This record gives sequence, C-alpha cells and structure tokens, in this order.
Amino acid sequence: MRVLLVEDDRLIGSGVEDGLTEAGMTVDWAYDGKQAQLAMTTTPYDLVILDLGLPHISGTELLDWIRRRNDHTPVLVMTARDAVADRVSGLSAGADDYVGKPFDLTELIARCRALVRRSQGRSTDTIEYDGMIIDPDRLTVMRGSERIGLTARECALLVELLGSQGRPLSRARLQDSLYGWNEEIESNAIEVHVSNLRKKLGSRLIRTIRGIGYVIEVPVQ
Ligand code: CA
Repeated sequence: MRVLLVEDDRLIGSGVEDGLTEAGMTVDWAYDGKQAQLAMTTTPYDLVILDLGLPHISGTELLDWIRRRNDHTPVLVMTARDAVADRVSGLSAGADDYVGKPFDLTELIARCRALVRRSQGRSTDTIEYDGMIIDPDRLTVMRGSERIGLTARECALLVELLGSQGRPLSRARLQDSLYGWNEEIESNAIEVHVSNLRKKLGSRLIRTIRGIGYVIEVPVQ
C-alpha cells in the first residue's frame, strides 16, 4: 500500500512517515502542493494524507485539483481540531475523512487502513482467499490452525496481487506499490519476495506470466 503524505511541517511529517512505514506502508512525502501534483501524475497511490495549511498551493486547492482530474484516490485530511470551516470546505471539496491535529498515530493508522479498505470494497481487516485468512495489520496468514508470519513487503505484495485476482501485475507496477521514492531497490527484489511467498504459502499460489508479470488466479469455487 503506497501512501502520499503531503505535509510541510517537518516534525509532524517525519512522525507520520515513521509511523506508517513501521505499519508496513510505503510512504512518499511531498512538502508542498506542487510536489504532490507531480507525484500524483506519475505514481498511483492507495491513499493521500493531506495537510490543509500548505505553502503555495493550499491543501483545499490541491484536493480540488485531485477531484477535478477525476482521481478517486481516498484523501485523509489533517487539520486543526477546531477548524470547523476547514472541515466543511474540505468535505465539499471531496475529502474522505479527517483527523484533527494533534492526533494519535495509532488512530491515524487505523483511519488510513479503514479508508483503503473501503476504497477496495472490503468490509473487514482481513482478506480470505482459498482457505487462507490474510491479516495485513498483523502481517500473518492463517491456514487452518497454522499461523504463517510475513514480512511487511511480502504481505504488501500478497495484498496487491489479491486485489487484482485473475489480472497479472507487472514487476514495475509491483515495485511502484512496494517501494517509495528514496528507497534502493535491488533489480530482483520482487522475484525474491515472490519466491519467499511461494516457500511460505505454496508454490502454486502466485503464477509467473512470462514477459508480463505475476498473477494470483481467481479461486475455483
Ligand atoms: Ca502545514
């Protein structure tokens, strides 16, 4: 899950970035609206976390720009707790949820997950697939009574493929969703994660489509 954080305050921004990264999310941090616009025209995000008080282009203007592009990426707005006017204008501009500053990081993470879940049409935290229950928050897969632990990246890759059952995803697309701007990527990183997932969950779960990418098939009922 790749998140665009738009925040000019370095202290708040780095706190959010650290918290979300620790929770297994990939975070790109834009310091102003221009950077955010550039990021959003080049990278698909699962979620945007937006501070309303930004230099140059305000958060509300940015939100308006996002929606005018017909981009339905969920947007979580961060605003001063008592800024009711911000809330109302943000709502009409198309924000999906709010957290008031100062906020609790645990609450922010929970809201982020809920928004992404909703945008993917899931009502629960877990994903069921072919006798397995995948819990992205806990980085575990339950198969019967067996509990299998995943790394944050393995889990992110699995969730990405499960969100696209029957449709192969290219290595580049998977890399984009798993790695942020400043991260070094080994050229075979995705292959390594796929290979680890196969070792943990069975060799037939993820199929390689030569020259295209990887796919998890729609399970046979
Ligand atoms: Ca600000």
